[in-house]
Amino acid sequence: MQHEMLWNEAVVFTHAKSPASFEQWFSGVQFDGITDGIISLRARDEFVRDWVERHFLPTLTDYLRSQTGWSVQVAWSVGGDLERPVACGISEPPVRPRALVPSSVTNRLAGRIYEESATKAPTSASAGAASARPKRLDGLNPKYTFANFVVGPSNQLAHAAAIAAAGGGGPRYNPVFVCGGTGLGKTHLVQAVAHRFRSERPSARILYVSAEQFVNEFVQSLQEGRMSEFRNRYRGRCDLLLVDDIQFLASKTQTQEEFFHAFNVLHHADKQIVVTSDKYPQQLERMEERLVSRFKWGLIADIQGPELETRVAILRKKAELEQIELESDVILFLAQSIRSNVRELEGTLIRLAAKSSLLGRSIDLEFARQELAVTVNPRPNEASVDDIQRVVCHHFKLRSNDLLSKDRHKSVAFARHVAMYLCKQRLKCSFPELGRAFGNRDHTTVMSAVRKVCNLRTSDPEVRAHLDALERKLGTTD
Ligand code: ADP
Ligand code: MG
Repeated sequence: MQHEMLWNEAVVFTHAKSPASFEQWFSGVQFDGITDGIISLRARDEFVRDWVERHFLPTLTDYLRSQTGWSVQVAWSVGGDLERPVACGISEPPVRPRALVPSSVTNRLAGRIYEESATKAPTSASAGAASARPKRLDGLNPKYTFANFVVGPSNQLAHAAAIAAAGGGGPRYNPVFVCGGTGLGKTHLVQAVAHRFRSERPSARILYVSAEQFVNEFVQSLQEGRMSEFRNRYRGRCDLLLVDDIQFLASKTQTQEEFFHAFNVLHHADKQIVVTSDKYPQQLERMEERLVSRFKWGLIADIQGPELETRVAILRKKAELEQIELESDVILFLAQSIRSNVRELEGTLIRLAAKSSLLGRSIDLEFARQELAVTVNPRPNEASVDDIQRVVCHHFKLRSNDLLSKDRHKSVAFARHVAMYLCKQRLKCSFPELGRAFGNRDHTTVMSAVRKVCNLRTSDPEVRAHLDALERKLGTTD
């Protein structure tokens, strides 16, 4: 199984490099396994084999080599039925290759709309194979459930809002706007809403779509003169609308307008809407103001980087799900070493498991240490006062010496206070040292600035948004 995970990662990597042609070629290729460092692939015909070999294999094998240190070889077979193509071709029946391609890829490749009420019969030749495989909901990862989501202080609010949106009780907000940095669980949460809603109301019609898919569908419908069909789907026949990564609508004015109308109709009919974004509504760029203001109608629930305890709990959960045996000391070590986001935490766990099974070695502390020494970058928290000042200036669009100047203009003073606060939080500097680093100011000035920002952080959402954005840019430090 770990081999498959490693292969999955390589597929994701390769897809990301050539998203446009990936599907076309990999719908004609099947992964049959890895044995003794040799990857077995099956191609529909010689033409596909040669093309994939020439254009995609170098990327794939380079990735595998970089992760494992093997010299990777590929054994091809040609012809025969491809039951589980790596990518679902456009003409393929809507059955995803189950464990072979991670949902992140299948979502983008073929996952589109997830309509709960329609249980389509599997088509033609795939019928037998499809029924033998667990049912996969179109566009949704079956693992992204509430049961598999670890709740901690960093995501508590978003989790509670998601549960309520799914009809699980508690005050319900509409829309729910889930925002946070990459790899922190937004997609997981929003898909959990779909799973739960469906189990509570089996006949409901649920649309789960990434904003990117929404744009593509809209443009295609427009070109093909099928707008009424499109509108009917998004306005008339929808009980729950889930849109992932709404920031993707930036600059797409026509799509924004279409989404605005769909939003209004659904909201008016009290249909639940959940949107995710990598930014707070007020930080969304090139997004119509009337749309931004609607995003603020309901609840804005942010997800922060998880604390140590939550990271430990997530690792335990993932290890259990993937049946990877891990001692507590290794779990703690990983949780302490990888702080940036959950996706990276998960990726490291899977890589460790893959390597341990290849080498026939258990994952002990020594093994984990060696592996991380090679792959994880040194902690990015050795930022200096200069670095923090630079990031703050860039964020607030100030000149580099504004923070050190005597300028008392409100916006400059605010940025200066924020920079002092961040330095105090992140560096081992005394107040007098910081005073000197900020244009020779008195240490009491720094103290009061830090206290002020600290208070504003809890009382003012806008200040909190700025700090979150800055902290993301600087990397986490706990
Ligand atoms: P995002 O959409 O915010 O970029 P994802 O939802 O794709 O992040 O999450 C990345 C990975 O981390 C997924 O595999 C997801 O299952 C996992 N993950 C994130 N947060 C949690 C959590 N609280 N509990 C369990 N898994 C999590
Ligand atoms: Mg996501």
